[in-house]
Amino acid sequence: MAKVDMASGDAPAEAGRDFIRDIVKADLDAGRAKEVVTRFPPEPNGYLHIGHAKSICLNFGIAQEFGGRCHLRFDDTNPVKEEQEYIDAIEADVRWLGFDWGKHLYHASDYFEQLYNWAEDLIRASLAYVDDQTHEQMRVNRGTLTEPGKNSPFRDRSVDENLDLFRRMRAGEFESGARVLRAKIDMAAGNINLRDPVMYRILHAPHPRTGAAWKIYPSYDYAHGQSDAIEHITHSICTLEFEDHRPLYDWFIENLKVPSRPRQYEFARLNLTYTVLSKRVLTLLVRDGHVKGWDDPRMPTLAGLRRRGVPPAAIRDFVKRIGVAKANSVVDVGMFEFSVREALNKSALRRMVVLKPLKVVIENYPEGQVEELDAVNHPDDPGAGSRKIKFARELFIEQHDFMENPPKKFFRLSPGVEVRLRYAYFITCKEVKKNVKGEVVELRCGYDPGTKGGNAPDGRKVKATIHWVSAAHAVPAEVRIYNPLFTKPDPDAQNFVADLNPSSLEVLGDARVEPALAEAGAEPVQFERNGYFCLDPDSAPGKLIFNRTIGLRDTFAKDVAKEKAAGSAQRS
Ligand code: ATP
Ligand code: MG
Repeated sequence: MAKVDMASGDAPAEAGRDFIRDIVKADLDAGRAKEVVTRFPPEPNGYLHIGHAKSICLNFGIAQEFGGRCHLRFDDTNPVKEEQEYIDAIEADVRWLGFDWGKHLYHASDYFEQLYNWAEDLIRASLAYVDDQTHEQMRVNRGTLTEPGKNSPFRDRSVDENLDLFRRMRAGEFESGARVLRAKIDMAAGNINLRDPVMYRILHAPHPRTGAAWKIYPSYDYAHGQSDAIEHITHSICTLEFEDHRPLYDWFIENLKVPSRPRQYEFARLNLTYTVLSKRVLTLLVRDGHVKGWDDPRMPTLAGLRRRGVPPAAIRDFVKRIGVAKANSVVDVGMFEFSVREALNKSALRRMVVLKPLKVVIENYPEGQVEELDAVNHPDDPGAGSRKIKFARELFIEQHDFMENPPKKFFRLSPGVEVRLRYAYFITCKEVKKNVKGEVVELRCGYDPGTKGGNAPDGRKVKATIHWVSAAHAVPAEVRIYNPLFTKPDPDAQNFVADLNPSSLEVLGDARVEPALAEAGAEPVQFERNGYFCLDPDSAPGKLIFNRTIGLRDTFAKDVAKEKAAGSAQRS
C-alpha cells in the first residue's frame, strides 16, 4: 500500500490530479468533449457501502470540478435480486453523502424498448442470434483461457428465424432460461468476453418498475454502454474488473446506431482491512442475523456509518486522501479512522460520561451541598462556549481510573494518591470499600476546597486528571461500543463466518452521562477521554442509547491495556 502523509491536511486528488481527471481535462481542452457527463450506476440489489462512496465521489466530484453533470442511473436489469427498498436507500445515501443528481435520475429499465430495438438491428445485420443450447452446453463450448470456444450449432440461423424466435422470447412463449440472444462476435477470441456474449435471457419475473411487461431482460454488458450512449455520458468510469469487458462495450457502440460515443475508463476499487465490501457477503450478514440490519453501525454501509455517527465530510475526506489509481490495493482501515477523528475533533462538543461507574464519596464535602462549575464545550473553539456542571458529595468515576495496588506508572487514583477531577477539585483516596466478593464498590475520598477549578494555591502538582459525574444528577444511559466486525485484516469472503469477531458489539448498560446529554440531538459529541459518540435512533424518552463512533487516538487506550496487563499480572 502506498504511504500517505497523515499529517498533511492537503488532499492528493484536487481537480486534474489523478489519471481520470487528467483524461477528462485533456478531452475538454482538446474539444473532444464540450461538457463532461458522468454517471453513478448502482444495481439496486443491496445498500451502498464505503467502496461505492469512492465511485460516487469520483463521478459526482469530476462533474462538479469540471462544470459538467453526473447522473444517478439504476442498473435495474435483474429483477430477481432488485427491490424498491434498495432504490430508496441508495437515493437517500447519495444525498446524505452530499451529492445531487438534480433532474438526472435514470433507470436502465427506461431504455428496455430502445435496447430491444437495437437488438433486432443486430439480428438483421447478422450480428446476433438466438441460441437454444443449455446453460451447461454453453459453458463447455465457451472454451478456456488457453483453448478457443466452439461455435453453437444454432449460430447460423437465418435472420428471419432469429427475428421470429426473439420476438416470441419477448412475447413470453418460452420458459425462463430456455433460450438466449447472443452477439455473434468470435468464439475463438482471446478475450472470453467476446465469445458470443449473452445479450438477453428469458426471465418470467416481475420488475419493480416495468411490472410484467417484459419476459426477457438485457445483460449488464449489453445494457450498460447503450444506456451510457442514450444519456450522452462522455466518461463511463467503472472499476477494474470491467477492463476486459471494454472491447465488448466498444463493439456494441460501434455496431449500433447510438446517439453518442461514450468511453469507458477503469480505476481500482476500494478494499479496506478488517472489512468486507462484497454485496453478496453484506447481504448474508443481514439475512443470517450476524448484524441487526443494513444500518447496523458495524456495517461498512453508508447507512451503517451514518448511524454510527460518521459525518459524511469524513468519508469525502477519506476518499480524497486515498486518491484514484489504476492498481488494486488494500487501504488500512486506520486511514479511514484518521479522517473520522479529524472531522469529529473539529465539530464534536465535549461532555463528561462515565462508562463503567465506580462510586466516590467526598467525606469532607457537606451533605446536601451542590455547586455549579464551568466546563468548556470545546477546547479549541471558544465560540462553542461553556456550560455549568453540578458537583456534589457523591460522584461516579470510571472503574479503570482506580487501582488498589497500582503498578509503577499508574498515576490515576489509588489509596493515598491525589488526582484532579476535571473542572473541579483535587481529591485524595482515603479508604476502599468492597463487597463480599472482594470487588471495589466505593471509594471514600477527601477534597481540598482550595483547589477549585483545578489548581492548588501552594503550587503542588498532581499527575492525573480524571473525568466524573455527579451521582445525583447524572442520567443513566446505554452505550454501545463497536469493534471491528472481523478478526482478520483480510477476512475470507468465501468463509466469512469463521472470521467474524464475537466481540464486535459490547453493550454497557450502566453508563452515566452528564445532564446536558439528556437533550442531545443527532450531532456527534466527544465523551472526554472516552471517544466520539452519537445518539442511536433506538433511544426513546427516558432511555438514552449512545453509539461509540470511534475511540480517541491517544496513548490513553494503550496505557490502559498496559496497566491492565500489569495489574492482572500483579493480582495473579
Ligand atoms: P455487484 O456488481 O457485485 O452487485 P457492486 O459492488 O459492483 O456489486 P454496483 O451496484 O454494480 O455494485 O456498483 C455501482 C458502482 O460502484 C459500480 O460502478 C462499481 O464499479 C462501483 N463500486 C462497487 N464497489 C466498489 C468499490 N469497492 N470501490 C470503488 N467502486 C466500487
Ligand atoms: Mg457491479
